[in-house]
Amino acid sequence: MSSLFAHSQPGESCVICEEFKEKGIHLYTVFICTECEKELIHTETNHPKYKYFLKQLKKITTPEIFS
Ligand SMILES: [Zn+2]
Repeated sequence: MSSLFAHSQPGESCVICEEFKEKGIHLYTVFICTECEKELIHTETNHPKYKYFLKQLKKITTPEIFS
């Protein structure tokens, strides 16, 4: 057998940077890579980049909102 059947994707798609990363955490239904997680933690809430994080994190919604 060839290695073609090995994992086709190197990890999961990060909700923040939208790249496939191997290491990260699961937050509700989404995946956040280690780098983004650290950045998020170390970004001040008044920093412009924080708004970007919030925008990306809005993808995290509870299913109840549709009911
Ligand atoms: Zn990321």
